[in-house]
Amino acid sequence: MDAVNPATNERIDTYEDDSPAAVEQALADAADAFESWRGVPLRERQELLASAGEVLRDRTRELATVMTREMGKPITQAESEVEKCAWVCDHYAEFADSYLASDHHPSPPEATVKTRYDPLGPVLAVMPWNYPFWQVFRFAAPSLTAGNVGLLKHASNVPGCAKAIEDVFREAGYPEGAFQSLLIPSDLVDDVLEDERVRAATLTGSGPAGRAVASTAGENLKKTVLELGGSDPFVVLDDADIDAAAETGAWARNMNGGQSCIAAKRFIVHDAVYDEFLDAFLEEVESLAVGDPMDETTEVGPQASQSLLEDLHEQVEASVDAGATVLAGGEPLDGEGAFYPPTVLTDVPEGCPADAEELFGPVASVFRVESEDAAVEKANDTRFGLGASVWTEDRDRGERVASRIDAGCTYVNQLTKSDPRVPFGGVKDSGYGRELSAAGIHEFVNRKTVWIE
Ligand code: NAP
Repeated sequence: MDAVNPATNERIDTYEDDSPAAVEQALADAADAFESWRGVPLRERQELLASAGEVLRDRTRELATVMTREMGKPITQAESEVEKCAWVCDHYAEFADSYLASDHHPSPPEATVKTRYDPLGPVLAVMPWNYPFWQVFRFAAPSLTAGNVGLLKHASNVPGCAKAIEDVFREAGYPEGAFQSLLIPSDLVDDVLEDERVRAATLTGSGPAGRAVASTAGENLKKTVLELGGSDPFVVLDDADIDAAAETGAWARNMNGGQSCIAAKRFIVHDAVYDEFLDAFLEEVESLAVGDPMDETTEVGPQASQSLLEDLHEQVEASVDAGATVLAGGEPLDGEGAFYPPTVLTDVPEGCPADAEELFGPVASVFRVESEDAAVEKANDTRFGLGASVWTEDRDRGERVASRIDAGCTYVNQLTKSDPRVPFGGVKDSGYGRELSAAGIHEFVNRKTVWIE
């Protein structure tokens, strides 16, 4: 596996794929580790997780640099990502025992009836490159603490991140086999998933990858969680604070080079404030600093690879051919590296890529609507249902509109974000299951009823 720095398009490292014997050894180690790890008192598992958080904090700059070099995330955003991983470790180190405490039920006299939350076993995690630490930690922190062990199949363009994460758990003191990275291509995922020692799988990534993993898991009757793509609406109503909406919207679309599942992708703006919003939004978008991701002042780095940039540009060109107007950006930047400028499209025709597909880069589509009802209709006119953001000065109206949007979460006067304290996940083609909070730690457990007389 080649690691390529997208800021220069130069190869920075090469990793050998794991051999079939190495994969077999990892599966055997995972099964062995599970048998002892499940018996470690929860309090000790929580303490180890807190140690993982400390390792992350101690090594923030170094780990952030691995990310930035492999997938081009601006270094300040990479550092924030490492800190957020430490936060999710802190969160479950503090709350896992209350989330996993047995539930007691009304029971007959002289009987005690409860639900225990027991671990399932080795869980396979198939992960994407866009938040190469965060996606892994938001699975691993709750799942390992619940007593499962983890097998990570990371995206092929971030092998250094995969190895670095394995190293964090080792340094924190986790036992051998509790968390292992498999350097394998995606066509070997099925073999691992079909292995009877693997008990469940989680995938964060695109729809096709999710369907492939869910179908193999279904054949083998294994539980899955799928965190897939999105085309999140960002709804600006006629009573919104326009400056705040424009500033937050520009960031919500362009952070991480626009490569976020919950980025605001479709800006749906009430006719009464459309011109005012568009002017303010364009000003914000055009002020973003694009450049070397190792420069601390950079806000938008390169796309994660040249081929991803080319895919994105094809979607933009197809949308323009269909009638969309480019108000900013719209062409790859000259010079070395996979740089695509923050781009704004208007007059986006129904059904073209910028309307109907996920654009996984810094490209905003802006739509004009005549009313609140039309805004809700447009927001829901997508096969995706991950997040949404609604802007209005009337909090009750915001909640009412939020309740009508088909998405796993809706934020009012805030960008869509993930937070260890609240459930995260999608509906429709954005997947199923939830991560984070109590909901996340309950995904990979056996809810076991125990009846004692
Ligand atoms: P991707 O191409 O689907 O890859 C994700 C992971 O799945 C990688 O490890 C990939 O391995 C593996 N994979 C690909 N095809 C597979 C198959 N047929 N069977 C088994 N595994 C397979 O997605 P990506 O380009 O890395 O990430 C971008 C997508 O992820 C976007 O759609 C984005 O919205 C979504 N995403 C969703 C969330 C969320 O929380 N909902 C968060 C982040 C990203 P290889 O790299 O070896 O191909």
